[in-house]
Amino acid sequence: MRATAPRGTRDVLPEEAARWQRLEAATRRVFHTFGYGEIRTPMFEHTELFQRGIGETTDIVQKEMYTFMDRGDRSLTLRPEGTAPVVRAYVEHKLYAGVQPVKLYYIGPMFRYERPQAGRYRQFHQIGAEALGSSDPALDAEMIAMPITLYEEMGLRDVRVLLNSIGCPVCRPRYREQLRAHLAPRLDRLCATCQTRYERNPLRLLDCKVPQCRELTEDVPSILDFLCDECGQHFGAVRTHLDRMGLTYRLEKRLVRGFDYYTKTVFELISPHLGAQDAVGGGGRYDGLVAEMGGPDTPAVGFAVGVERLLLALEAEGQNTEDGVARPRVYVAAISPDDRSQVVELTYRLRRAGVYAEMDYAGRSLRAQMRAAGQRGAAHVAIVGGEEAQRGMVRLRDMNTGAEREVALARVVEVLADGR
Ligand code: AMP
Repeated sequence: MRATAPRGTRDVLPEEAARWQRLEAATRRVFHTFGYGEIRTPMFEHTELFQRGIGETTDIVQKEMYTFMDRGDRSLTLRPEGTAPVVRAYVEHKLYAGVQPVKLYYIGPMFRYERPQAGRYRQFHQIGAEALGSSDPALDAEMIAMPITLYEEMGLRDVRVLLNSIGCPVCRPRYREQLRAHLAPRLDRLCATCQTRYERNPLRLLDCKVPQCRELTEDVPSILDFLCDECGQHFGAVRTHLDRMGLTYRLEKRLVRGFDYYTKTVFELISPHLGAQDAVGGGGRYDGLVAEMGGPDTPAVGFAVGVERLLLALEAEGQNTEDGVARPRVYVAAISPDDRSQVVELTYRLRRAGVYAEMDYAGRSLRAQMRAAGQRGAAHVAIVGGEEAQRGMVRLRDMNTGAEREVALARVVEVLADGR
């Protein structure tokens, strides 16, 4: 029996969980103001959903999916990302028949068989949003504004936006040819993977992390010079909106992202404090995916933020250090072991009234209980038992001032719930 979590996974213990909860609460608050409703899709889907959606030639589909046969001989896959499942749900529930755009967000775990390293896990978590049913460039801008607003809300200061357009099936083939022509003389110096990408999916080659490949692709022509009129105008409008919203960005001609479904706008959000795994979020437009999934021709755009990365970035900025441990409003202490059942009862009454109450579970002396209350940072101690108990009273000690007073046992809940 190996008592360790599987490689690439991690436990979130209560202190850290408090930060996750703060992030989740901020997400719900911010996304609500942008008009997005929550969607919860299954943790696994039919394998072909991702094969078709993400693309057969992508790293994710070729080598990173957790795919298994279930007992009914169906090939299933733990979701490596959130967009394909949301699109599947949009088509399955005919959400295209209602008011458009449909604006959805999700929070949840994703699974990719990647080599674990700082900020990269095999189970990680994403916060994402998708707007389906509109090609308005205002939505592309919104998809950048939303995560930025979330980062701001969380106190993250330093995030950079990288922006590009990868065109559409009309203009991309022209660029692909240009790219091939440009790289042909250097083909033999590209890494083995890039040599196959050159044939099958040359844009993907711009995304290669091998230093030699990065160097060899540094001076490639920019796809922005090859966009068709429609894509060019769309991209221009996205930029105008971003400028107007005061969101700064850098054009990055080699930004193509790891999925095949993107069209037009793509973007990535970078924290300069994270080292190699510096992307805290990313997204783009995917106007062909809904049709690919069997729905009507429907434009859409979305993004995903990495939860662990965002928390790491906050920490790197010194922003994520607040003490996540909650302090009891009251510690209920027993004078003698005979008083314990009264402690159990009073503690329960307090908790039901919404008061965070703690008690001792080890039958310790009153002194030791007082010490424990101090260590936990309890605001008050309610001392139960003795001669006060016989009179129906409890001694209530304010741990900040040290002042003690008697309160009727029947009124303790009321007094503590009111904060009096
Ligand atoms: P992607 O779905 O690949 O566009 O990723 C969106 C965001 O999820 C990235 O910007 C990262 O913040 C995060 N992310 C992606 N893969 C991982 C991983 N293996 N471990 C942790 N975070 C990840």
